[in-house]
Amino acid sequence: MEQDFAQARRLMVEHQIRARGVSNERVLAAMREVPRHLFVPEDLRSAAYGDHPLPIGEEQTISQPYIVAVMTELLSPEPGDRILEIGTGSGYQAAVLGRIVREVWSVERIASVAAQAERNLEAVGTANIHVVVGDGTLGLPEHAPYDGIIVTAAAPSVPEPLFDQVADGGRLVAPVGSRHLQDLVCYTRRGGDFVVRSWGGVAFVPLIGTYGWEG
Ligand code: SAM
Repeated sequence: MEQDFAQARRLMVEHQIRARGVSNERVLAAMREVPRHLFVPEDLRSAAYGDHPLPIGEEQTISQPYIVAVMTELLSPEPGDRILEIGTGSGYQAAVLGRIVREVWSVERIASVAAQAERNLEAVGTANIHVVVGDGTLGLPEHAPYDGIIVTAAAPSVPEPLFDQVADGGRLVAPVGSRHLQDLVCYTRRGGDFVVRSWGGVAFVPLIGTYGWEG
């Protein structure tokens, strides 16, 4: 069974991710390694390597593998980096990042979702990922600045506090737009300025909080 999952993972990386243009070898290697089926509800494990998001309870989702890969590549993670993720969900994106970087802080709004993510992360044995329950639209100033910030829920605009928590040269990746359709944008800090580029259209569940949507 584990061998079948490992094979499904290799095929996922080749056909859904590399074939569509993601080329960062660190990202591809991490996604070949992280057992995605351990981040979805047990009855959905056989669908874990499909080309789509999946429900994880509480009306939340684990993102499509390709979108996880694209966002991770946009973040340009380096081994020594410290990363902040907003929207822990299943913990899968954090686990992928945790394979690449030194430390990941991940904030989740829903306590039961965060608790399940902690169990998932424990099951795959990660030591450099910290899950925090709270409103991620405020960031996590006590551990700032971060080399990268990744927002994995749809924001009406980039929450203002997050800009202050990006290190010089750091990246901030977020889906920004309406509640139903967003543009995936990547901001890179250059001193007091940000260079912005847009990747294209995505659809995420809403970011709910002080600098997000109303619940
Ligand atoms: N990155 C996740 C993964 O790998 O499974 C997928 C994230 S899911 C698409 C979006 C998550 O963002 C949900 O779990 C939701 O509860 C969370 N969320 C929404 N608003 C939030 C906020 N203000 N702070 C922290 N988490 C939030």
